[in-house]
Amino acid sequence: MASTHQLKVQDIFSVKDYVCLVTGGGTGIGLMATQALAANGAKVYITGRRMEVLENAAKSHSPEEGGGQIIPIGPCDVTSKSDLEKLVKNLASKEKYLNLLVTNAGISGPKAPPDSASADELHDKIWQNESVEDWDSVLKTNVTSVYFSTVAFLPLLQASIGGKFAPRSPSVIVISSMSGIMRDSQGHFAYNAAKGATIHLSKLMSAEFEKAEVRVNSIAPGYFPSEMTMKESDDSNKTHMPAEKVQEKGHVPANRPGSDEEMAQAVIFLCKNMYVNGELIAVDGGVLNQVPGR
Ligand code: NDP
Repeated sequence: MASTHQLKVQDIFSVKDYVCLVTGGGTGIGLMATQALAANGAKVYITGRRMEVLENAAKSHSPEEGGGQIIPIGPCDVTSKSDLEKLVKNLASKEKYLNLLVTNAGISGPKAPPDSASADELHDKIWQNESVEDWDSVLKTNVTSVYFSTVAFLPLLQASIGGKFAPRSPSVIVISSMSGIMRDSQGHFAYNAAKGATIHLSKLMSAEFEKAEVRVNSIAPGYFPSEMTMKESDDSNKTHMPAEKVQEKGHVPANRPGSDEEMAQAVIFLCKNMYVNGELIAVDGGVLNQVPGR
């Protein structure tokens, strides 16, 4: 009988000794990705603007013996090129290469549900509740900074090719959103337009950075517990989202938020499958079967 040894899950999905960096890795989806990678043996550097949040994430979620590490590398505002340059220098002083970058840092934007058939009412509501500065800020964090974070780390990503760990394939996972796919503004045009741009940016970077042998893929999450979605986290930086909060939306077939495990599966899959490049994976509990999109 032919051997199937090489197909064991613990081998094909192993991230042991991978060097990873997760932006916004101290809370929400970034922390889920961080925990998943570290639990499976990776050394995961996390960054964000609040150092105490990063330190608390590392203290609360560093894996037991046999796992990897969570290392708060220091604060970085990903909207600043000089902060990104300092971050790259800092990481380069500790590691020769980077296997995986997760560009996860993101913010929500202004809200003004367009819920009137009167053009005057629509105009007034949106005009009064949204500013150009709000739009700039959402686009800067959710799109521009994804681009510059990726570009900043290209040399360290490429440096991971070959060597004693070959075959490995450096990659970037861009956390976008189902909101960037659907035709429903969800009352926040700026965020949804930004996430649409994030998704297209991922595809452009995938095609253009292929020559540097850096893969770029994206995860479009549905409803996941986080500081962004629930406005708080507990003393270990984790957030609970009650199923009712998702059920009341009326368009989530799974009838519950996504779990840590479901985000972990998507992250590890994209990190490990070297034949996947330029893909967008929605992890949305079926929302995009219900809400028109694309
Ligand atoms: P959180 O608010 O919990 O996480 C966002 C993280 O990004 C925080 O840790 C924050 O840390 C960091 N961050 C924000 N701005 C910056 C910045 N300028 N520089 C560096 N770090 C920054 O929310 P989520 O986990 O929900 O968000 C993570 C990603 O997932 C976002 O891109 C979001 O759009 C996306 N997403 C989330 C969904 C959900 O349901 N939760 C659904 C779809 C997409 P700090 O404030 O310390 O800088």
